[in-house]
Formats: sequence, C-alpha cells, structure tokens
Amino acid sequence: MQPTGTLPRPQTGVLGFGGRITLCTLFGIRIQLDWSWILLGVLVTWTLATGFFPPRHPGLAPATYWWMGVLGSLGLVVSLLAHELSHCLVARRFRIPIRGITLFIFGGVAELGEEPPSAKAEFLMAAAGPAMSLALGVVLDQVATGIGPSDALEPARGVVEYLSLINIMLGVFNLVPAFPLDGGRMLRALLWWLRGDLHAATRRAAMTGGMFGALLIALGLFLIVTGQVIGGIWWFVIGLFVRNAAHGSYMQMIARETLAGIPIGRFMTLDPVAVPPSISIRRFVDDYVYRLHFDMFPVVERGTLLGWIGTRQVKRAAHEDWDRVTVGGLLEPLSDDNCVDAGLDAARALTLMSRTANHRLLVTERGRLVGVVTLADLVRSLSLRLELEPGR
Ligand SMILES: [Zn+2]
Repeated sequence: MQPTGTLPRPQTGVLGFGGRITLCTLFGIRIQLDWSWILLGVLVTWTLATGFFPPRHPGLAPATYWWMGVLGSLGLVVSLLAHELSHCLVARRFRIPIRGITLFIFGGVAELGEEPPSAKAEFLMAAAGPAMSLALGVVLDQVATGIGPSDALEPARGVVEYLSLINIMLGVFNLVPAFPLDGGRMLRALLWWLRGDLHAATRRAAMTGGMFGALLIALGLFLIVTGQVIGGIWWFVIGLFVRNAAHGSYMQMIARETLAGIPIGRFMTLDPVAVPPSISIRRFVDDYVYRLHFDMFPVVERGTLLGWIGTRQVKRAAHEDWDRVTVGGLLEPLSDDNCVDAGLDAARALTLMSRTANHRLLVTERGRLVGVVTLADLVRSLSLRLELEPGR
C-alpha cells in the first residue's frame, strides 16, 4: 500500500494482529507475513471458491473451484509482494535503507529506514508500486486471452483473469490521491516540488487522505444498511485504516520536525534506579517494582550495564520460581535496539522505537549508563513543545 517511515505502530488494531512470520529474503529485503494474513487467506480462498469463480466459470467440479481459490489467494500475495518490492527497489536506488516488507490484511507495508530525500525520490518511489500492479494486470490479461478457449484450461484462465483484475484494482485504488496511499504520496511530492514546503504539502495531502477515509467509511455504512454487509464492513475498515494512517503520518512528520536536532539525552530520566543481577525475582518485585512503580529497570553489575528488566520479563518465570530465578537469568541483554548514546538525534531514537516496537531505551555516555527514556517521555515533551512553541 504505502511505504511508512517512523509512525510508532500500535501493537494491535486495524493494521494487523501484531505477530509476524518471516517468509523469505528477496534482494536482501526481509519479507514478513502478518498473522492476520492467515485469516485473510482462508477468507479470500473461500470467497473465490464459493462466490467468485462458480458464476463466471460454471460447470466445474467443486474441488476445482477450491483449487482455483487457493491459487487465487496465493497469487494475490505474490501480486502484493511485487507491488511492495517495486517501491523498495526504487527506494534503494535513492539509497533509502529498507528494513523489510510486511504483508498486512490490506496489503503490504514497506518499512523504510528514513523519509525520502527529495520530491523526485518520493514521487518515483510512490509511483513504482501502482505502475508494477497495472503492468502486471495488463500482462496477465494478455496471458488469459492467450490461453485460448479449451475447456481443460478453463480453471487456469479463470485464475489468471482474476489476478489480472485484482492487480488492476490494486493499481487504481493505490493511485487515489489520498495520503498515505501511493497516489497521496505522489500528490504530496508534487506539492512539495511546486511550493518547496514539505510541511504544508504533507498537511494538504493528509487532509485529502482523511476525507477519502471518511468517504469510504460512509460508503461502508451505506452498504451495510442496504444489506451488503460483508462488502460494507470491508470498505468501512479500509476507510478507518486510511483515516488513521493519514492522521498518523501527519503527526509523525510534526514529531520528526520538532525532535530533529535535539539529543536524546535531553529527554531522559537521569540516574535511573539500577538493579543488581544477583537478586531473586521475588526481591526485585517486592523491593523495586512494588515500591518504585517503574516498568523498566537497568541491570548493572559493578558499574557495568548488562541490560534491563521489567514486568514483561518477570512474567516469563512461574510465580513459584520467583525465589529461585535471579534478575540476571531473565534480563533483556544490551543491543543496538534497546541502548543508545546520549548524543543520538531524538528523531532517530523515535524511528528506532517504532521500528523495534521497543518503547524504552537505555541511554549511555561513553558506554556508561546515564539515564532511560521512554516513548511516553518523548510524546509528553513533544506535546509541551508544540503547546509552548506552536510555530516551530
Ligand atoms: Zn504501494
């Protein structure tokens, strides 16, 4: 659907169920599937086998319709992948780092490491996806025509025709100029190029995105009221997604602009209470968690930072083992994903938090622990800054 930059993604919600499985790595890009896709795959197969193919290709055996359904939904996944991969390959040409592609219930999301560097890069990157989908649609249409009228090949023709149709729909839907759909990104790039003001361009494009989302929600409600419940729910949820994404992308840009250039050390809580690795989980819970009410504690042994521990790690041990298991046995070890230097740009720290869904960071100076910072700290400071200096 669209490349997203740094929006701190909700753990659950309309984007998907949160869990992902890694499928493969193509051109060095990690391809992941959201769990919601398993459900969607079943739903699409069922819809194709019972509702879509039978009236268009009558007289085939029931099992044949199911095979066509399975091939159709697999083809849909491949089509979405082709769309996202073409975004990614163009992004790579402009040296924007790509983390990976995740296929969600509504399509794919390419995770870019940074925002596009120029209007031209943004335009070409956004256009690449729909261009690939439309091209695939046209080619598959030719293939379907070429298959010929033979009865034995009727199922194959049916599947190819369906995939041609779905690719064209994918291309057209994503070209709607509603940010953050691809068309909206192209619109934003054009406005950015014409006026030279990324902020105003994003605001304008996000506004069209919000309006388009509201329109889809209204369409969904209309369909539900008039009895087309499944189709109605579908459009309603897509509308919600577009509206949320439009708002989120705009807020994300404001956040970036406000935080950029400020070191993360300015947002941290200084001298956090550290825990030694040798104490038991029982003591940790009684003496630290229940007394201080923090949800994250750095683990330090004789001045050396080892990692951190919080309630999530504690839950991994059974309650009766709390006296036996130590903090050192459950701690989350240090990594580039949970530990940053105090000089790191706050906008980059926000990107890191959203990419890893890890909303707490340990902050060090020359390898020594100096503080901790949470997403909540950043957001609170952000809203204060916007309140006191709205023009920034
Ligand atoms: Zn796209």
